[in-house]
Amino acid sequence: MVKDDLLMIPGPVKLHERIIKAMSSQMISHRSRDFEEVFEYCKNAIKPLFGTSGDIAIISGSGTAGMEAAVASFSKVRKITVVDNGKFGERFAKIGAKYTEVDHLRFEWGNSIDLEKVEESLANGSEAIAFVHNETSTGILNPASEIARIARKYNALVIMDGITSVGGDEVKMDEWEIDVAVVGSQKCIGAPPGLAAVAINERAWEFYSESVPYYLDLKAYVKKAESNQTPYTPAVPLFLAFAEALRIIEEEGIENRVERHRKFARATRVWAESAGLELFPALNEHSSYSNTVTAIKMPDGVADKDLRGTLREEYGITISGGQEHLKGKIFRIGHMGNVTKRDLVATLSAIEDILSRKNVVKPALHAAMEELG
Ligand SMILES: *Cc1c(COP(=O)(O)O)cnc(C)c1O
Repeated sequence: MVKDDLLMIPGPVKLHERIIKAMSSQMISHRSRDFEEVFEYCKNAIKPLFGTSGDIAIISGSGTAGMEAAVASFSKVRKITVVDNGKFGERFAKIGAKYTEVDHLRFEWGNSIDLEKVEESLANGSEAIAFVHNETSTGILNPASEIARIARKYNALVIMDGITSVGGDEVKMDEWEIDVAVVGSQKCIGAPPGLAAVAINERAWEFYSESVPYYLDLKAYVKKAESNQTPYTPAVPLFLAFAEALRIIEEEGIENRVERHRKFARATRVWAESAGLELFPALNEHSSYSNTVTAIKMPDGVADKDLRGTLREEYGITISGGQEHLKGKIFRIGHMGNVTKRDLVATLSAIEDILSRKNVVKPALHAAMEELG
């Protein structure tokens, strides 16, 4: 591994120097005042990123631990509707099936959600709905507030995977009436992987199940969070890094951060389209392109290794490919976290260079630069 390799994937993201320094320190007791101060800061600083004043649980585990904690803890439902238009929606369905009956609403990956199907499913006796806000696998932003509005009509619990939106795009959990939302540390927040935060509003507890898994019982986390601790030994170095990442966000300001993510996403899309490449998501009037990751169709005649392999070997830049059946069909550029204009311009120009050798792109950097200002 080269030390200055540039990670432009949708998590884990490149770490800010301050975050690397923050976690390389001597251990502190997780029952000490020192840790409680770190926890308290994290707990409070993350609320504005979710747009909530509700409870916060922080689990030592990846984003999926947060998804499972949310579904399992609030599984006192006869049936849950799961919206699947990508890999992470599918994951929610698999998790849901472990705990209750699932109405698995499948849409082709890359396509938008049909809200009429969502309503039909809820009218059909579902008592909860789980969906992914920003579907990282396809680069699509699903209509969170519209989904929640429909769910409200049926008094259904609303669980949202905000793993690649919270900290990078606008999330207004309380205003949108999302009951439970999840984020992972290694995406837009810009910390290393290994922590998941779950935000929970008051109403969610009506759906609290008594038969929850032991480690992922959100009630235990929320109870301990009152005294700024965790129920079990937390990943202390990650908490130190997480706190520093949240300080960096506070310094930038969440509105500025969202605006930066949107600008980078716009620049990436303008570049791709000017280059003659095609964006992958098929939008409808309710969906939009992701502001944190851009998915682009692989041009005909270009193999995944031609692009991503050469990019890594020649330039030390890593981007993502497609997952499952999308392998080789799309490539994805993560532009989330503390990514800089330099990182993005380097990535787009290197991709343009490699693809121009195959005569499948036109020069388009000027268009991206205009967007970046
Ligand atoms: C990355 C990601 C996950 C999974 O998180 P892990 O940290 O890998 O467990 C879930 N949902 C979305 C939308 C993601 O981008």
